[in-house]
Amino acid sequence: MSKNSKNWRPATQLVHGGTLRSQYGEMSEAIYLTQGFVYDTSEAAEARFKGESEGFIYARYGSPTNDMFEKRMCALEGAEEARATASGMAAISAALLCQLRAGDHIVAARALFGSCRWVVETLAPRYGIECTLVDGRDLANWEKAIQKNTKVFFLESPTNPTLEVVDIAGVAKLANQIGARVVVDNVFATPLYQKPLELGAHVVVYSATKHIDGQGRSLAGVILSDKEWVTEHLQDYYRHTGPAMSPFTAWTLIKGLETLAIRVKQQTENAAKIADFLAEQKEVARVIYPGRADHPQADIIKKQMTGGSTLVAFELKGGKEAAFKLQNALDVVTISNNLGDTRSIITHPATTTHKNLTDEARAELGIAPGIVRLSAGIEDAQDLIDDFAQALKAI
Ligand SMILES: *Cc1c(COP(=O)(O)O)cnc(C)c1O
Repeated sequence: MSKNSKNWRPATQLVHGGTLRSQYGEMSEAIYLTQGFVYDTSEAAEARFKGESEGFIYARYGSPTNDMFEKRMCALEGAEEARATASGMAAISAALLCQLRAGDHIVAARALFGSCRWVVETLAPRYGIECTLVDGRDLANWEKAIQKNTKVFFLESPTNPTLEVVDIAGVAKLANQIGARVVVDNVFATPLYQKPLELGAHVVVYSATKHIDGQGRSLAGVILSDKEWVTEHLQDYYRHTGPAMSPFTAWTLIKGLETLAIRVKQQTENAAKIADFLAEQKEVARVIYPGRADHPQADIIKKQMTGGSTLVAFELKGGKEAAFKLQNALDVVTISNNLGDTRSIITHPATTTHKNLTDEARAELGIAPGIVRLSAGIEDAQDLIDDFAQALKAI
């Protein structure tokens, strides 16, 4: 029996949504680590392959543990269909490439996760797909970039690492006028704080490596949309190119989703307190936090997000040297490039996640040498603030 109610609120969906119990009535979801499925008769196999009988065929197409994860994500996101993938990048590249062909054009915000930028800027053109990158903060730039062959708008909001936002409803309106689709990488907002499908976007993608697992165990992704888009564009691409997720990973994500709401709540509270603390420090030039009234796009945030962020970006007056000294002096907070984890993590984007960009591209995105990105964990907020207070003294 499957547990499913459209009326449940997110915290309930996260615990019960999509649960599929076997005849043993297990409490925790089962891990079906199987590559394939058996049929009682030849006729049953024929019917399954013809699509005349319900059931799984091959784990590259879908399997029970993955199905539970996909259904729970659909319930949370308000999507009709989902496909689990082996990484966030598998999700994003599939979501874009499955619906594009030679001669098509993408408009994308230039502030994208590094690998996403490589996919649209370097990979897509090899297959004859043109791409225009724009400063996504201003809707006029999206409109100006439209061509006759524009098929997809692609964006991330808030962006990594400078937490800029894009007006998703505004971009969706432009896309609908020309029959193009909007793909949103919703990692930084989490499914709890922003619902791109409700704002008019057509496809939502996640790196589930981040908040959805949230405990540094898994590499994973998921694509969500309506039934029609999945059937027409994604289904065959997904089945035949093989980005499928391992059922074991799907199980870790099901466990991750159970605690997503309480983790994100604690991380957001911690991030907000640290942002307020950092804003008062003399070594800090500026703090960028979507939950603060001084965020440059606070009006759009209010319109499309229901919570701040678990991430904080800030710039140190002392540039790279100060950033390195601060990071090295932190004790509770760990240096790493992951985010959305239970542990607080700090990153210096200019020398790590964004080192492959040209100096000019980094400057365009506001990634100054003194910019540091914090992903707040679920530790005690005061311990984190104490840690920053002692580390700032090292500068
Ligand atoms: C991490 C991340 C990705 C890529 O996900 P992987 O799971 O590492 O493949 C894409 N977009 C954003 C915004 C991310 O933070």
